[in-house]
Amino acid sequence: MYLRDLSPYPYKREYQFLGTLSVGWLTKQYPYSQGETSEDFKKRLFVFCLNHVRQTRGFHVCEFCTPSPPFLVYAQRDDKEVWLGSAEIRVVYQGNIYAAPDLLYHYVIEHRYCPPDEFINAVLEGPLPGSPKYETLIKRL
Ligand SMILES: [Zn+2]
Repeated sequence: MYLRDLSPYPYKREYQFLGTLSVGWLTKQYPYSQGETSEDFKKRLFVFCLNHVRQTRGFHVCEFCTPSPPFLVYAQRDDKEVWLGSAEIRVVYQGNIYAAPDLLYHYVIEHRYCPPDEFINAVLEGPLPGSPKYETLIKRL
């Protein structure tokens, strides 16, 4: 499923709120922006993956890996591990909510995906999942 970066997130499901923006819904058919991202960004992004939302029964495989992995993608950082491809993350910052597949972390690490600046900034500056501020925001939304 492809969604253009920063386009409205179209799914009316749990954790879907008015004004939610899509980030990182990549497919092979469309080029995506590439570049280096900071360690700090990757580190914080991983925390979001550890605290994902919308765990689904289905899963997405990474279309950019060759050969394509048959199942979920494994990621590890600082002794913590997670399987990516069957959940989403929510980043909340300054009144904006960003909805991304948790595979976004893998795209950044393995395929040099560089998300929009405002998303990077939201990950860096916004509250981390697990913090009281984040949980309050998510609950209120
Ligand atoms: Zn991949």
